[in-house]
Amino acid sequence: MSFFIREDPLTGDRCIIASIRSRRPHVIKEIIEEEPFQCPFCPGNESLTPRESFRVEENSRWIVRVIPNKFSAIPHMHDVIVDSPQHNEDLDRMNHLDKLLWTYKERLVYYYNLENVKYVAVFRNRGKKAGASIPHPHSQVLALPFYPRRFLKEKEKYERINRNALRDFLKREMESQERILIHSKNFSVLLAYAPVTPYEIWIIPKDRINSFVFESRFEELGEIIKETVSLLKTYLGENISYNLTLQSAPPWDRDYHYYLRILPRVSVFGGFEFGTENVIVSVAPEEAASELRAVKYASRTE
Ligand SMILES: [Zn+2]
Repeated sequence: MSFFIREDPLTGDRCIIASIRSRRPHVIKEIIEEEPFQCPFCPGNESLTPRESFRVEENSRWIVRVIPNKFSAIPHMHDVIVDSPQHNEDLDRMNHLDKLLWTYKERLVYYYNLENVKYVAVFRNRGKKAGASIPHPHSQVLALPFYPRRFLKEKEKYERINRNALRDFLKREMESQERILIHSKNFSVLLAYAPVTPYEIWIIPKDRINSFVFESRFEELGEIIKETVSLLKTYLGENISYNLTLQSAPPWDRDYHYYLRILPRVSVFGGFEFGTENVIVSVAPEEAASELRAVKYASRTE
C-alpha cells in the first residue's frame, strides 16, 4: 500500500492517495439498463425538445443540435448540446468530434458577448454515475453571473506566485514523463498529479491559450480525446461513466492556460469528501499511467 498527500498545482487543493491493490476500481463492467422510452434527442423526435438555437448539418441532416435546457436553474443561460444523431455513440467513436468542439467554441463566443456573463462552464456527463439523466450523448453549456470556485482558486494561486502555474507544471511533467499518457503536435495528455477521481486525466495545449474561444485545432484535439476515452474504456469497461470538463478563462482574462479534464466516476464521494472538501483516491496517478500505457502499447502490436 502506498499513502501520500498531494497538492493540486493549480488550486492548492490537497488529496490523499491511498493506493491499495486489492481495492482498486478495476475493470468495472457497468451495465446500462435502459428502460424503453421515446428519446427526445434522437432524429425524428425534434418536436419533443424546445426550439433549437443552433445546429451543424452534414448532407442536409443535423449532426449537432443546440437547444435551451428545459430544466435550467438559470433560464436563457443554459444549453443542452445533442452531440450526435446516434443514440449510442460516445466520443471515442464520433467522426464529427471536431464539429462538436467547434460548437463548444461558438456557444462560448455567444454567451461571452452577453452582458452580466462572467464565466461559461462547458461540461459533458456520460453515464448515470456521472449525472446523465438521458443516455443519448449530450453536452451542456451554462453561463454564470459569477466566477466559479475552482477558477477563483486558480486565480488566487496566480496572484500569489505571479505566473501561470500550469506552464511550470507541464514542463515538470514533460521532464519526468511519469504521468504522461499521449503526446500530439500541440497537446499533452497526462494523469492528474493530485486527482479528484482515480484515473483523472488532463489534456493540456502545449502553447498557452487562455480561453477556448481562441482554439481552432479541433481535429487534432478531437483525435486526442478519442484516443484517451478509448484507452479508459478498454481498461475500465465500455460503459464507464465519466465527466468531461473544459477549464477555460473568459476571453478577456489573459493570465490563464486552458485545459480539459476527464473524470472517470469509479468512486463515490462520502462523508469525508463532503466534510473536508478533500478527497481520498485509491489509485496513484503513476500506477494509473503505467496501466493505461500498457493498454496503449498492447493495442499497437495487434
Ligand atoms: Zn436518442
